[in-house]
Amino acid sequence: MTTQPAANTYKRPLPVIHPDNAPYWAALKNHELRMQRCTDCGTLRYPVSPICYKCLSENHEWEQLSGKGTLGTWIVVETATGNPAWQEVVPYVVALVNLAEGPRITTNIEGIEPDQLKYGMPLEVFFDDVTPQVTLAKFKPA
Ligand SMILES: [Zn+2]
Repeated sequence: MTTQPAANTYKRPLPVIHPDNAPYWAALKNHELRMQRCTDCGTLRYPVSPICYKCLSENHEWEQLSGKGTLGTWIVVETATGNPAWQEVVPYVVALVNLAEGPRITTNIEGIEPDQLKYGMPLEVFFDDVTPQVTLAKFKPA
């Protein structure tokens, strides 16, 4: 059984979903991490883009990724500023994870104390259903 907070209990910013990135968010809702693979040159595109940054093709398919990666770099946010809803989650980790397939994703790391993080440590995706409509891809130690 999954637990999902009601839409009105999640107070932090949510992604802006538009036609170009809707398949990315729909995949996360299905607990799949998918990115665009150019069907002309094979480049994996991230962030989502209407055209391939290598060959300018608009053609692509949404490839399911392994969800495996390694920790590239990170910061620990210890002070909430702006939106007071961040006070509920500080300290939290914002990281760049180097995915096994190549792209680097900006995400949160959970399931480990921030002072235990190590460069290059193996990580795996997990899916945080923050509202009935939105699921975020986060990472935890593998
Ligand atoms: Zn291409």
